[in-house]
Amino acid sequence: MFVLDRPSEMPTTLLSGVTLPKRINRLVELVYNLWWTWNSDTIELFEAIDRQLWEECVHNPVKFLRRVKRKELNGALQDPAFLQLYDKVIGEFDAYMRDDQTWFNRTYPGRRDHLIAYFSTEFGLHETFPTYSGGLGILSGDHAKEASDLGLPFIGVGLYYNQGYFSQHITEDGWQEAGYVRYSFDDLPILPLLNEDGQPIMVSVELPGRRLWTRLWRIQVGRVPLVLLDSDVPQNAPEDRDLTARLYGGDKDTRICQEIVLGIGGVRALRALGLHPKVWHMNEGHSAFLTFERIRELVAEGKDFQTAMAEVKASTIFTTHTPVPAGNEEFPDWMMDRYFHQYWPEMGLTREGLMDLARLQHAGGQTFGMSVLGIRMSRASNAVSELHGQVSRRMWQFLFPGTPIERVPIGSITNGVHTGTWLARSMRLLYDRYLGPDWMEHLDDPETWQALLAVPDAEIRATRLHLKRKLISYIRERARAQWVALGRHPVQIVAAGTLLDPYKLTIGFARRFSTYKRGSLVMRDVDRLLRIVNNPHMPVQIIFAGKAHPMDEPGKRIIQEVYRQLKRAEFAGRIAFLEDYDINLARYLVQGVDVWMNNPRRPLEASGTSGMKAALNGVINFSVLDGWWQEGYNGDNGWAIGDESELADYNAQDAKDAASLYDVLENQIVPLYYEDRQNIISAGWIRKIKESIITLAPQFSTRRMVKQYVEEMYLAEPAPAAVSGNGRR
Ligand SMILES: *Cc1c(COP(=O)(O)O)cnc(C)c1O
Repeated sequence: MFVLDRPSEMPTTLLSGVTLPKRINRLVELVYNLWWTWNSDTIELFEAIDRQLWEECVHNPVKFLRRVKRKELNGALQDPAFLQLYDKVIGEFDAYMRDDQTWFNRTYPGRRDHLIAYFSTEFGLHETFPTYSGGLGILSGDHAKEASDLGLPFIGVGLYYNQGYFSQHITEDGWQEAGYVRYSFDDLPILPLLNEDGQPIMVSVELPGRRLWTRLWRIQVGRVPLVLLDSDVPQNAPEDRDLTARLYGGDKDTRICQEIVLGIGGVRALRALGLHPKVWHMNEGHSAFLTFERIRELVAEGKDFQTAMAEVKASTIFTTHTPVPAGNEEFPDWMMDRYFHQYWPEMGLTREGLMDLARLQHAGGQTFGMSVLGIRMSRASNAVSELHGQVSRRMWQFLFPGTPIERVPIGSITNGVHTGTWLARSMRLLYDRYLGPDWMEHLDDPETWQALLAVPDAEIRATRLHLKRKLISYIRERARAQWVALGRHPVQIVAAGTLLDPYKLTIGFARRFSTYKRGSLVMRDVDRLLRIVNNPHMPVQIIFAGKAHPMDEPGKRIIQEVYRQLKRAEFAGRIAFLEDYDINLARYLVQGVDVWMNNPRRPLEASGTSGMKAALNGVINFSVLDGWWQEGYNGDNGWAIGDESELADYNAQDAKDAASLYDVLENQIVPLYYEDRQNIISAGWIRKIKESIITLAPQFSTRRMVKQYVEEMYLAEPAPAAVSGNGRR
């Protein structure tokens, strides 16, 4: 009943019933397919109708079409240039959706039935969708978009959070406050999945003392569908209706319920759609209960537990995303009892048998570890950078007694970013001119990028300056809107970046504020930082952004420490903190600053992806040699903070890394940027930009990454030993 490759199911009127003039009514199809988010021509189309409204609707095309005035639409209809662009976009859309010569089809003819189901708690697709919090979500979203570009038989499974993560407000004293809003479906490009009778398709899971119902939503990402489960239905009690309301909200009980809905409910959702994936990809341990449900299905068919487990394992793969303990979910035994005592008999297991699947021993007792379950239940597991692979093999060696660290079966596939999503339009036009018209088809081939050497410096300089001006005028408009609407204290308006100058060296630092990311490291020696920032001939600006999890008190204190410093008059408004980091702000920042700084405590950054987005746009990385940068840095394409050493004494490590940070900034970065008297950005700097793009753009793209997943994980035949827990190196 659910056909993956049938975009014709898409609606022709907005769900709210709004109809458009016939000549341009296929705009409706465009807005219900997120293909438009990585096709800058479509964005031009919306801007051409009403640029002001497009910004007011925060780039939400459904909202936009619901609110746009007939007058503006009629104006567009009278404009031949608009109609020409419209026809071009529709032509490109149709060509994309109908293409059967995709990379997957060409490389693996006859494998279209090899459906891959990709489970993730977060999908970061666009700023309008409240279904992500940070890096993990962006990666899932980029993975889905690339799976579409490459033509994989692929379906994503996740949860629909009608309040999303949270919106961030910083008080005058630097304290983070969290706000929540409820999103309206009418305003989102999301569709209910209906059965033949036009009724919502519902699936349920058993929770203690009740049955929890969910309905299913579909988001179309190019050729790839995502199915999201949502507990906000009248069949559920009020508390249960809010079960999937917030991403990473609530207590441990909420978390385990959400993970039961994602894992067990997710399998049932695919079954309700008549789907039988050949590969089940658990992106992080949150979805690992999916293996329970698939074992239960096989046991119900009459198989014993061991046979069922071997079968499940042979078609399951697992990606681990963090060595930080809080990122590896664990549940206490009493909770497993509470939620699974009726379930383990259905898996053909005793209580002990179930607990032993994912046993973690601690000083204080034992728990059930979701990453352990993920690793044990998969035929192959991978980390997300080479260094993270080493760290993970050490971390999980205890699961493979007698296996030397280097033979622990956890491989690595380094993360990447989706080029079309993160590349600025003006940079893309520049690449179009110099890399050849079909460079996007070969973007993971290093050869493609060599042609950048021939680009005149002046063009790169002009594009970089354009993007920085765009960023800073965006920042000022935001500050102005807050000043007008929210009655903030003037110092907050300065702290929001009003005094930034688009012609000065600008550093970006934006990421989650959790302690290992050391968001206040650059403030460690404030006097030294003041001298660097206020150098009269060569000033430096720093722009911060990022959220701390609402329960993460130490993370919130780091934001406060940074904020209290930067609002001091001595910093002259050259350091700013931008509230409410999201995909929209991330795009402005990774496209607009000069330097992208990252200083995590090595080796805790599994990969990091924002630096890859920056590199793609000609922003130069300045980072600790952790995660992807350990692989990406070649001595010439950016700068390193510190070296490859890790000290057990955190304070000593911080002091050492901060000293290195100041030295490199003061002695290398600042002088290089301002080296030419006649140019705002020196020729030496532009050489570095070229070196950075040429070496990093092809390697750290999802194009390379998803191909690697296909070759090494999705289509690799399970080795005979796989059944006993073999990963791939
Ligand atoms: C890319 C991105 C991230 C992840 O960045 P890291 O480098 O992994 O910290 C987080 N949030 C947003 C909004 C992003 O765009």
